[in-house]
Amino acid sequence: MLRDAIAGASALAVIAGAGFWSMAGAQEVHHWTYQGEAGPANWGELEEGYAACAVGLEQSPIDIPADAAMSEVDLVFDYRPTALHVVNNGHTIQLDYDAGSTLAVDGKAYSVLQFHFHVPSEHTVEGVASPLEMHIVHRADDGALAVVGVLFDFAAADNGFLAPFWSDLPAAGETVDLPGEINVADAFDPAGGRYGYRGSLTTPPCSEGVSWFVMAGHQSVSTAQVAAFVALLGMNARPTQEPNARQIGG
Ligand SMILES: [Zn+2]
Repeated sequence: MLRDAIAGASALAVIAGAGFWSMAGAQEVHHWTYQGEAGPANWGELEEGYAACAVGLEQSPIDIPADAAMSEVDLVFDYRPTALHVVNNGHTIQLDYDAGSTLAVDGKAYSVLQFHFHVPSEHTVEGVASPLEMHIVHRADDGALAVVGVLFDFAAADNGFLAPFWSDLPAAGETVDLPGEINVADAFDPAGGRYGYRGSLTTPPCSEGVSWFVMAGHQSVSTAQVAAFVALLGMNARPTQEPNARQIGG
């Protein structure tokens, strides 16, 4: 039953973390990890429904070559402010987004579900990882997923977008609702260039068919901010995957 529930779950629920917990039950919370026996090299064998992690040919993240072409897919960001719902699901820090924000990809509307973080970055550029990556996860009415990735490099100053919630990150399994609002459009330049490719969830079940857009412009983050994340969660980046027949860009 449990296996069926996981295999049948929408990619949305699994990537949303909290949904995965409620379906899978407490004993499954740490079933997959970023280190050791249940780490990324073995994800595909942990559950029948995780097979794509091992055998998929369009997996994420990937390394972006320096000569990759910028995406010419038409993106229209219509992001609104959200209340601050901050979740530590044991795998990442995630902010669940209020309804009403969308990204249009060639005219197809995807709603913002949540954004979350990885240390170090999952996508690399010419083999080089950044200290932090943010993923903004969107879902269309037909279930299709689109994810925007934003890379952060070290700077002396704290990142001002992160600051309002980063200073009060919840412990594993906990959620905090903070006062005020935040707009993830303020975290990066939505009008900037980006690399596009077809990939997957970067966590089990590694489902494919995800439209990825990795912003070419990098943001900045302080070493103290990255250290605060690592103190709670450790490293949480899946290694880069083979591009196989995919084109990066376009
Ligand atoms: Zn992610």
